[in-house]
Amino acid sequence: MKISVIGSGYVGSVTAACFAEVGHKVVCIDIDKKKMDLINAGISPIYEEGLGELLQKHAGRNLIATTDYESAIKETDISFICVGTPSAEDGSIDLSIVRAATESIGAVLAKKEGYHVVVVKSTVVPETTEKFVLPILEKTSGKAAGKDFGVAMNPEFLREGKAVYDFMNPDKIVVGSIDQKSGDLVSELYRAFKCEVTRTNLSTAEMIKYVNNSLLATKISFANEIGNICKKLNIDTYEVMEAVGKDSRICPRFLNSGAGFGGSCFPKDVRALIGKAKEIGYSPVLLESVIGVNEKQPTLMTEILQRKIGNLEGKKVAVLGLAFKNETDDIRESRAIPVITELLRLGAKVSAYDPMAAENMKRIFPTIEYFGKAREALEGADACLVMTEWNEFKQLDSEFEAMKEKVVIDGRRIIKAKNIEYEGLCW
Ligand code: NAD
Repeated sequence: MKISVIGSGYVGSVTAACFAEVGHKVVCIDIDKKKMDLINAGISPIYEEGLGELLQKHAGRNLIATTDYESAIKETDISFICVGTPSAEDGSIDLSIVRAATESIGAVLAKKEGYHVVVVKSTVVPETTEKFVLPILEKTSGKAAGKDFGVAMNPEFLREGKAVYDFMNPDKIVVGSIDQKSGDLVSELYRAFKCEVTRTNLSTAEMIKYVNNSLLATKISFANEIGNICKKLNIDTYEVMEAVGKDSRICPRFLNSGAGFGGSCFPKDVRALIGKAKEIGYSPVLLESVIGVNEKQPTLMTEILQRKIGNLEGKKVAVLGLAFKNETDDIRESRAIPVITELLRLGAKVSAYDPMAAENMKRIFPTIEYFGKAREALEGADACLVMTEWNEFKQLDSEFEAMKEKVVIDGRRIIKAKNIEYEGLCW
């Protein structure tokens, strides 16, 4: 089948490359010409394991990239909207990018002959596809949904860092649609994937994505709260959670306490669900606490630091790990951001190291010092805060010798070195 993918970020570029890999003809559309040039040259616009290889294999053959909506929509049968859905100031969902992409699709549908299906893959709150996207498509195309074009919602569950693997090996595929025909066409695209397709309506498909992310975020905040209590009681929370996770009703994953969750999805999606709940007159106390616990965790890092080394004015603090998690260069909502903000507010000098995310973090903190190796960031530091669970941090040992004071506060339980003054965030 011929597919157009609108938005070539983490979700769009992976969706496009993976659909090409299973034999579909794919056109990527983005407003960012640089990204389109990279994709056409077979180069990944983001760091994502395996994506570069797929783009290299398919670019210029069954995968092309363009900024031209008209040719892309006219030459394909199905369009996936994969643009960003950031948080508005009040935490609710900002649909302005979805609106722009939808209007561009609708304008081409007005001139296109034949049936076309528009699929929302961006994470959008329940009722968005039916009450926001569909009416915009009808208005801008002058055509009728269900008759002239189909509408579907196909949430994405991939993890950044393992996005290609997750797309190719899904735990679940959810397809919500306004009618049988649209749903059948979208489901057909996934025929090559060995996974049952859950068919449902548009709002249920949207809700499944939010519940999925909110439940995972809840597990993390729950583990963090338990970790904070365990620390005060001198109990190892990791030992507790290992045993708790053996209960077949409780999966052991997402029970590791630490500096909290970040990334482009969990914080924004939980906030968006809170916003939607409030809009319909429901007060979501549990979801609000999930965010509350998550915002408090990074502040505990600097509290421990001050307890250990006192006033931070003029002290050099090394921050190891800037990405919101390992195996990605994505820093969106990284827990390192509130920590560095607080360090700077308290007058500390920050020396930072991350294997992949330094360039992205320079946009937020242009004035702190960045180094190409952990050892260089640690040189002469009064303390070190570990913010991301990069595997290479497990090997750090003699590198800490370069510090002035070997005070290491670990937000991810990743440091194995001996001969340091170590303290874990919740252990
Ligand atoms: P992103 O910000 O990385 O990418 C969005 C892309 O859309 C950018 O390349 C941008 O240039 C492009 N764009 C903006 N306006 C456009 C327009 N009018 N037309 C065409 N392209 C346009 O976003 P992302 O992380 O890929 O997320 C996309 C959606 O998928 C969001 O709703 C997100 O919540 C959801 N999601 C993300 C993940 C993830 O791990 N990142 C996982 C599942 C779902």
